[in-house]
Order: sequence, then C-alpha cells, then structure tokens
Amino acid sequence: MKVLCYGMQEAEIPIFEEANKGYNFDLHFTKELLNKKNVEDVKGYDALVLFVNCDASKEVLQKIKSLGVKYIVTRTAGFNHIDLDEATKLGYTICRVPQYSPTAIASLAFAGGLSLLRKIPYIYDQTKKGNFKIDSQMFAKEAKNSTIGILGTGKIGFETAKMWKGMGSKVIAYDPYENEAAKQILDYTTFDNVISQSDLISIHMPYFKGKNDDIINADVIKNMKKGAILVNSSRAELVSLPAVIASLKADHLGGYATDVFPNEAEIINNNFNNKFPENLKVIEELISLYPKTLVSPHVAYFTDEAIKNMAETSFKNLDQLIKTNSCENKIN
Ligand code: NAD
Repeated sequence: MKVLCYGMQEAEIPIFEEANKGYNFDLHFTKELLNKKNVEDVKGYDALVLFVNCDASKEVLQKIKSLGVKYIVTRTAGFNHIDLDEATKLGYTICRVPQYSPTAIASLAFAGGLSLLRKIPYIYDQTKKGNFKIDSQMFAKEAKNSTIGILGTGKIGFETAKMWKGMGSKVIAYDPYENEAAKQILDYTTFDNVISQSDLISIHMPYFKGKNDDIINADVIKNMKKGAILVNSSRAELVSLPAVIASLKADHLGGYATDVFPNEAEIINNNFNNKFPENLKVIEELISLYPKTLVSPHVAYFTDEAIKNMAETSFKNLDQLIKTNSCENKIN
C-alpha cells in the first residue's frame, strides 16, 4: 500500500515512521500541499494522507479518482478543504482525526493571549534594541484581575479556559451547546456579554462557510472594551481582518494574536522576506502592527503529542478503510 503524506515537516517523519510500525505502509512524504497544479503527482499511490490547506475540491478529487487512488484520509480535525459531496459521489469514504491534542492548540492561544496581556513582546522588543527605559506601554493588567471570554467551549476552548482559570482569571463563555464539565470553571453568558465584558476574547468555535463569516466584525469590535485583546486560533474567516487592523490603529483593540489567515494555502510554507504580493498586503499590514499583533503560521498543531496522535489515528483510519471499507472516524 503506497501512501503519500502531504504537508510534512522533517520533524514529523520519525514520528510517522514509528506510528507505521504496526502497519508497514509504504510511506512517502512531501512538504507540498495537494493542489490543482501538483495533483498529477498522486499517480501510482494507493492512498493519500491530506493536511490542512490541501485542495480536495471537486476538480482535484475527480483527477485523483481518475489516477487510481483508492483511499483518502485527512490528518486534521477540520475538513473544509474537502468537497465531501463529491468525495461520496466518487465512492471515497473520508476519515479524519477528530482530536489530536486540544492542549496543543490551547497552549498557543493561551501563550499568545498572555503575552499580549502582560506586554511581553513590547518589553523584550525594547531590551533587544538596548533600551532599558521603563515606559507606560509596559504597564499590564494581571491575568487574575482580568475577565477572559471564551467563544466555543468544545475540546480546545475548554482547555484554554482551564489555563486561564489556572492564572486566577474570571472566565466567561458563550457556546450554543453548553459543556456541563466547563460549568465548574466558567460562567456561561450571551455572545454580547462575552464581547462587552472581556479583557481578552479567545475564539474556539468552528467556521461554517456562509454562516459565521466575520462573526467578529467592526460592529462587534466596537462593543469590546477599550484595550481588549483578541485571540484567534480557530479559522481566519471568523474575523474581519480589516476591522481588526482599523481598530488596532485607532487604539481601541489592544492586541490581536492569530494562528490563522485568509488565503492560507498561498501563505503557509512560503518565505515572503517581507515582500508580500498585492493580494496579501493585509497580512503585511497586520504584521507591521507588532508588538500589538502576534502572528504564527498555523502552527498550533505542531507539537510532539499532536503529531503522534495525527499519525496513529490516520494509519488506524486507513487500516480500517482497507479492511472494512468503513471507519469509526468517517465524515461522509
Ligand atoms: P469542538 O467541536 O470540540 O468545539 C467547538 C465548539 O464551538 C462546540 O462546543 C460548539 O458548540 C461551539 N460553537 C459552535 N458554534 C458556535 C458559535 N456560534 N458560538 C460559540 N460557540 C460555538 O472543536 P475543537 O476541537 O475545540 O476545535 C475548535 C476549532 O479550532 C476548530 O473548528 C478549528 O477551526 C480550530 N482548530 C485550529 C487548529 C490550529 O492549528 N490552529 C487546530 C485544530 C482546530
């Protein structure tokens, strides 16, 4: 069984090889993400392990089918990169990794949020320049005196809430489906209350195309506290980036930490050397607002625990698909 794994970094390869010991798949790795230009490369492979930002749209899936690929799994929890209706029509049962390490994502969201709250990027930026003067921009409100708002208290939001609770923060949350266990450490309230009462808002809800695009828009940001910090490790489409930039420039929003971007497939794994193409100027503008902005390249998943679980579950999924033509983690 010849298997091609997309979006692979060097650090992941030994972990994938270890996870493969019980299966002995013939593994092949590429840093590339599947797209319309490189889809011909699937020729000769029996199975594909996709990654976030791979393009498994209708046209690409049809090509994959015509080139003889038998199985497709994604080593991600999200699956908005796959046209599931088309996959079903073509006879593919697609499997995902429903959870690989909620604490991996939560820890980056928490660390980014705490860094902005405690003014860490600004402080170290000054000493890096040899400037040891203390100024008002280093003044911070402590986490234990802050209200943290969590939007979405599923697996990742709950872990993030626990981390803030550990800092002594008051944690409030909005989720249309309340999590009983979370009620022990946070208070559920309305979306509007989370927006208006929080010193820091951490977004952990899923993105549903056409349903919650720009749920954090200019009107919502206006209702946040002056100096509030926003953290997005969920999906870029949930937040209006122009509205965030305008509010940061107007000194209303206090900071924005993000692990996700619009047009991600064009961004991730590229080094622009600060020369961004015209359609990515908004990213350049966001970065220029450092140290009020913290921007990471969709890397929250990149931990020992997460990669191990991604590999183990993907191979288990593939094995089930081969043996039973079905899978406990199927999504279509
Ligand atoms: P989950 O399904 O466990 O939790 C999502 C929660 O959001 C659910 O409790 C759901 O009820 C809630 N929700 C749905 N609509 C909402 C709304 N309008 N307002 C508030 N809450 C709402 O998912 P999870 O595993 O916690 O993942 C959350 C998101 O994190 C994913 O959808 C994905 O976009 C993102 N993610 C990012 C990375 C990364 O590397 N940055 C990795 C994994 C997941």
